[in-house]
Amino acid sequence: MIIELRDAAMTYQSPDGEVEALAGVSFVMEEGEFCSIVGPSGCGKSTLLGAIAGLEKLDRGSVQVDGQTVTGPSPRIGLMPQRDQLFEWRNIWDNVTLGLTVQGRNTPERQKHVRELLERYDLADFAHKLPCQLSGGMRQRCALIRTLATEPRILLLDEPFSALDYQTRLSVSSDIYRIIREQGKTALLVTHDISEAISMSDRVFVLSRRPAVVKATFDMGELRALPPLERRDSPAFSGYFNLIWKELDLQ
Ligand code: ADP
Repeated sequence: MIIELRDAAMTYQSPDGEVEALAGVSFVMEEGEFCSIVGPSGCGKSTLLGAIAGLEKLDRGSVQVDGQTVTGPSPRIGLMPQRDQLFEWRNIWDNVTLGLTVQGRNTPERQKHVRELLERYDLADFAHKLPCQLSGGMRQRCALIRTLATEPRILLLDEPFSALDYQTRLSVSSDIYRIIREQGKTALLVTHDISEAISMSDRVFVLSRRPAVVKATFDMGELRALPPLERRDSPAFSGYFNLIWKELDLQ
């Protein structure tokens, strides 16, 4: 297994008192799997991704990646945030190579890899444009390529489509799914959208209200073989939706 959480628990200390975010989250993910986390707003989803990324320190339990306990950020893990966070004053090339520059790995070999990614995903002609000259979907592809440029093995995606309108969201999530599959990455997506989780994942973890534990896990079974838009047309889709909806405590 590539990710293993055992009884992960974390409490924030704030001026207003303690906020218990995670109460003991356990799950494992295999290499190459695509899983999603759904749960009520404020239940601890982003905190959980932060703990896996090594940005939040657990009070109890452990997160292991590749058999090693996570103690801080690692190049093996790439995080794709809610907003694309492209720098408006840098062109696309300078944006997508930023992570490599920060890591001191902006070498000709790595640049070749980034150029191939831009070409493969129809962005090569935009390398010298500014982010404001791209559509929302193209910006999101750039954000993913910036994350892939540093060659992480695991991608953590924190509601990456939440700023997009519904139609764009459908096509961009489909594009991002294809890229992640083609690149053979292990991915964990946080989303509040049950349909999105079903259309992209092998398995869906449903979290309880805060403090979070895993309430239920659903395997997408026969849907796994289908790309996102075809899953939405499948007769099995609404069955999974209802199962997950019943587990979600949205009150
Ligand atoms: P979600 O991603 O599910 O919406 P979060 O993981 O962002 O939830 O937050 C879980 C809980 O922890 C929320 O109640 C939130 O207000 C609280 N929280 C998040 N970050 C902090 C922080 N830095 N200090 C104090 N409380 C926090």
